[in-house]
Amino acid sequence: MNRWTWQQLHDLEYVTVPSWQEQGAQMVFTARSGGGSRPPYHSLNLGLHVGDVDEVVLENRRRMMKIFEAGLEDMVSCQQVHGNAVGVVKAEQRGQGAMSDQTSITGLDGMITDQPGLILATFYADCIPLLFFDPARQVVATAHSGWKGTYLRIAEKTVAAMVKKMGSCLENIQVFVGPGIGACCYRIQSELLYKVIDGFSDFSDIIYEDEVGYTWDLKATNEQILMGAGIPADNIITCPLCTACDAGRFFSYRRDGGVTGRMGAAIALRK
Ligand SMILES: [Zn+2]
Repeated sequence: MNRWTWQQLHDLEYVTVPSWQEQGAQMVFTARSGGGSRPPYHSLNLGLHVGDVDEVVLENRRRMMKIFEAGLEDMVSCQQVHGNAVGVVKAEQRGQGAMSDQTSITGLDGMITDQPGLILATFYADCIPLLFFDPARQVVATAHSGWKGTYLRIAEKTVAAMVKKMGSCLENIQVFVGPGIGACCYRIQSELLYKVIDGFSDFSDIIYEDEVGYTWDLKATNEQILMGAGIPADNIITCPLCTACDAGRFFSYRRDGGVTGRMGAAIALRK
């Protein structure tokens, strides 16, 4: 049985992990349906920086916040600079990045909090969302892991920060590796191929070769980074859905040639 599932609120569809809900954390990864944006951002585009109408994006974000029974003022976002910096978000940072990208927490791709009701939100069109939950310490985290974040091992940095700054034990940290571009679609050129082979020389089954060239399995790479960091394999829940394969459900930067919307990955501890 899958440990993740689709749920719905009105006409908004999202992926979630039911066992996390039972243990005190709500986690959401949105599909593209149920919003007000027009093509090519149709319809639940949550990205303010992609050329869509700001007012419509904010209304779309409000719809996502309704899943949490919260408002935009409860959300916090970071800049997502394709780095591997992870920071602890405090109560007073609530609302940063919710209404405008200019107020996003600068320089971070990962956020951690122990503040109930503070919703950590990051945005995606193919990159891999990583969501973390420690039910014992009641701590949640999110990390944006595209090829750069994966290469820079942001998954490992997030785990280390949860242990060091929040007192989490490795065996209690659960991780959701969310929908993102799959090995079926993530074709890479030789320059990146050599970096990957070099950077992950002890990993298995992360590069595939076909008659055209090579593809990279970012999700499998993140799984092996997490296990290498001490997370038990049973604590890792991977969603196999590929954002580039499913145009009906997901935005995809690769598939849509760069002009497209963004899905949201959000997590919060119950108030
Ligand atoms: Zn695919």
